[in-house]
Amino acid sequence: MKPSVSMKLELLLVFAVVLWVDSMPLSSTGRKKYNKLLLISFDGFRWNYDEDVHTPNMDQLVQEGVKAKYITPPMITMTSPSHFTTITGRWIEDHGVVHNMMFNSTTLLKLTHKNTLKRSAWWDNGALPLWITAQNQGLKTASYFYPGGGVNYSRQAVDRSLVEAEGHPDANETEWRQKIDTVMGWYAKENFDFVTLYYGEPDNVGHRVGPETEERRKIIGQIDRLIGYLRESIQKNNLSDHLNVIITSDHGMTTIKKSPAVKEIKLSEYINFANLTHFDMLDYGGFGMIRPKEGKVQEVYDKLKNAHPNLTVYKKEEIPENFHIAKNSRIQDIVLIGDLGFNLNSRYIFYVNKGDHGFSNQEMDMKAIFRAFGPDFRKNFIAEPFDSVSIYPLMCKLLGVDPAPNNGSLSDTQAMLVDYSDAGGHAGRIQTSVSLLVIMMFILLLL
Ligand SMILES: [Zn+2]
Repeated sequence: MKPSVSMKLELLLVFAVVLWVDSMPLSSTGRKKYNKLLLISFDGFRWNYDEDVHTPNMDQLVQEGVKAKYITPPMITMTSPSHFTTITGRWIEDHGVVHNMMFNSTTLLKLTHKNTLKRSAWWDNGALPLWITAQNQGLKTASYFYPGGGVNYSRQAVDRSLVEAEGHPDANETEWRQKIDTVMGWYAKENFDFVTLYYGEPDNVGHRVGPETEERRKIIGQIDRLIGYLRESIQKNNLSDHLNVIITSDHGMTTIKKSPAVKEIKLSEYINFANLTHFDMLDYGGFGMIRPKEGKVQEVYDKLKNAHPNLTVYKKEEIPENFHIAKNSRIQDIVLIGDLGFNLNSRYIFYVNKGDHGFSNQEMDMKAIFRAFGPDFRKNFIAEPFDSVSIYPLMCKLLGVDPAPNNGSLSDTQAMLVDYSDAGGHAGRIQTSVSLLVIMMFILLLL
């Protein structure tokens, strides 16, 4: 029997409904199809720190997951600015966390890094971190010591947040494991979807004794043991098939060059701070800023411009666009960058740090690690280098979260996913819809 026109119409209607349902956003129960995600950051883990240490657990991860050759942090290679780029997917000029310290160049306020961790005024500048965006889409998120996790964004707090206290021990291996235990409990017993976990090493050791030392190699060995412990814990908690893990860092580390091998940079040799400057952010690694006194910008600039062969000076309006920092009002009139290893000293040379960062993100010593494993990641996959700003869209993809506006690009990272058309998000659903449509058209034609 040949079907009538009305039958065909009925069939079309049914297909249309099927298509419509298929392309609808997933309900809260439908969310279960996305795996959970853990982002671990080891502060100051330079891209090649595992090359001169025996790291059996990290080596195994290369077999069982993804390793990027390295990642490039944003310009201003510092802890808070870089971590906030990772969690927001925004350049520093867009998220506004331009330094580890909170400061105000008008009132002369300066607060140390640890004292910024609960101050929304420093972090909440309009860019929403992934915790908040994910929560608004029904996910449960937590931050364990991750910079920026302890404040409110548009009056919203992260579901669960632990903030590192002043004087917290950075290298206690037992405490490191307890943090893993706690986080596993959040996933296994409380059904958290996304957790960010922060460790202060190997940054601390890198500063204190320098990166090319036995102590730094020892702390990498300790981190490697922790990664082994993490993998056992994931198995014990039956999370192997449900949890993706990204291990990364905010910047690298380099040995600070010292007199008499080099002529160190001491800016008071070239400018009189009392007469010419209103405010400065100096003595903090390779990146610095000065706000000259009213009408003194040109004079400060002229005096510093060719002062030292290893010092680069920019007026704010000259800062290269690809630094992605100039647009922000917290960036001061004069920006200074030292060549690799040349710290920016203002009035005295203290030489507290044997290793430091803050130098150009194009320097290999400033590049950081990226590793990933879990059900959605390919195995034994070496990824090409990419900008850390692109970790954000990858995380959104893994969690099935619609990303907030960001500067990252999924095309930088999607090749590391098992099947990126099906790994979650809209692409997978749209592709299913299109194939269904083709099949239905074909059936209709046959009738
Ligand atoms: Zn540091």
